[in-house]
Amino acid sequence: MVDQTNVAYNGESIASDIATSIKSQMRTSDKLLSIGVGVPGFVPAKSGVVHGAVNVGWKEYNLKARIERLLDVSVFVNNDANLAALGEYWQGAGQQSETLLLVTLGTGVGGGIIHRGEIINGPNGTGGEIGHVTIEPGGRLCACNRRGCLEEYIGTKGFANTLHDKLSEKRNVTTELEWDDSVESIVKAAKSGDHVALKIIEECTYYLALALANAVTLINPNKVLIGGGISAARDSLFQPLHKHFSRFALLETDPKTLIVPAKLGNEAGIYGAAKLALDRHSVETNHLRGE
Ligand SMILES: [Zn+2]
Repeated sequence: MVDQTNVAYNGESIASDIATSIKSQMRTSDKLLSIGVGVPGFVPAKSGVVHGAVNVGWKEYNLKARIERLLDVSVFVNNDANLAALGEYWQGAGQQSETLLLVTLGTGVGGGIIHRGEIINGPNGTGGEIGHVTIEPGGRLCACNRRGCLEEYIGTKGFANTLHDKLSEKRNVTTELEWDDSVESIVKAAKSGDHVALKIIEECTYYLALALANAVTLINPNKVLIGGGISAARDSLFQPLHKHFSRFALLETDPKTLIVPAKLGNEAGIYGAAKLALDRHSVETNHLRGE
């Protein structure tokens, strides 16, 4: 069941909406062991307190404690892209990858790193946040108040920014593109040979390739998965991405086998949340047994 998140009053009703939704779907014979929740913010592994989830109105919010109070079971909260990475590791395109990097291209850019089945969160919960690595010093202003972050250059927002730049600077070039065109329209125009559209795709994938090559040098993953709505563009995106990646990569690797599409789509995060809840529940149970 998919419900729209109610972000009114700084997301005040989200915890109770989650609890109500879970209760309404449980049969009397069901036993709730624990709950996994993905959120669009930074979540330090130890506290489970959500930081900077500006899209839902939370600056600092203890979602874990709130849901635990309502349902009386253990709740485990993590960043949504981290959970998507865990889901792909468990049931998707990242199976058998000892080290895995997932990048989700939605409105912004999310990222998650899994190593030996564990999410790399870091003490502040910013582990895997590839959307906020600087790829253009002094570049476009990001929602995080810094300049030149990757998510200003790819993702639907990044494509829109690049489209606007290109339309502002175009001189004596004809293009079928309009100011409010979507990524799909840009891809379609590129396929029919529109030079401005081709340039936009070249530029956006160049920046993604730069960030990915740096990440690959740093963590040396077995696979890099690309998820999110834009990844549906497939060859139009992956071909230039692979080409640019080879320029920046430290070692000669075949980018076609390293950087591949994710498998689970929007359900990756749901699988990841379930896996997190199962793993943490068994850790807690073993701990209580003294194992
Ligand atoms: Zn940023």
